[in-house]
Amino acid sequence: MPELPEVETIARQLRGFVVGRTISRFRSYWHRLTEPEPAALFAKRLGGRRISGVRRRGKFVVLDLEGGEALIVSLRMTGQLLFHEVKERAHPYRRAHISFADGTALEFADTRKFGRMAIVETAALEGMLERRRRAGEPLHGHLGVEPLSRRFTVGWLRDALRRRERSAIKPLLLDQTLIAGIGNIYAIEALWRARIHPLRTAGSLRAAEVTRLHEAIRWVLRTGIRFGGASRRDYRDARGEEGRMQQEFQVYGRAGEVCPRCGSEVVRMVVGGRGTFHCPRCQRAPRG
Ligand SMILES: [Zn+2]
Repeated sequence: MPELPEVETIARQLRGFVVGRTISRFRSYWHRLTEPEPAALFAKRLGGRRISGVRRRGKFVVLDLEGGEALIVSLRMTGQLLFHEVKERAHPYRRAHISFADGTALEFADTRKFGRMAIVETAALEGMLERRRRAGEPLHGHLGVEPLSRRFTVGWLRDALRRRERSAIKPLLLDQTLIAGIGNIYAIEALWRARIHPLRTAGSLRAAEVTRLHEAIRWVLRTGIRFGGASRRDYRDARGEEGRMQQEFQVYGRAGEVCPRCGSEVVRMVVGGRGTFHCPRCQRAPRG
């Protein structure tokens, strides 16, 4: 599923495509897409609105609308935002279609139908880091720190790990209310680069390991962006093209292959319900 680098790639492309364009019509083809808001009301709120910017927050694509609101898109597993310069035949898994006044369009395709859209106050996206998210509250109001921002420092990470010292490090990296944007793939690659076993507890990391992890997180995310994201099955950028990061993975999806650093065999296991890959030699298992 798209993570920070994939969503960042899409947002950067869309910035060139849709900023300054005015929405003339929004159509939904999947009733749950805009839940809990009815699609008709959603369409009414979007009609005539001009897009003033496109950016990413966590794994959300954010289309800023003039007037302090934003249309946010959660791609989830298989969502794609495809820009069309001219009228094209509908994507077989089209779930929404945004027409612009100048005849161009933005199509939302999603085979698995987990993707969602919402219109939110822009300020809500800044998150409320100090307050726990209650059940049922939308994630977009509780997003954690952006790992490529200046706020994400070694000191910040050290303090965050200390607050959650008993959590295993891998699931912690996936917690969007702590650090926003990291998913399964980039967590696995970052832990390999930092030579930290996925089951280590946050509180067990030594200072040098925290520093390595901080560097590794930023490195894998930046590399992912540089390669246009990773395509496995469904990810496509806003031009409908695949990314190239999947060719750069060191351990993700490479069970049974050799670790590029030490030559040991890469192992797959399941942590917190997610398939995880690591090198048992470079990433020593915790005792017990
Ligand atoms: Zn190794």
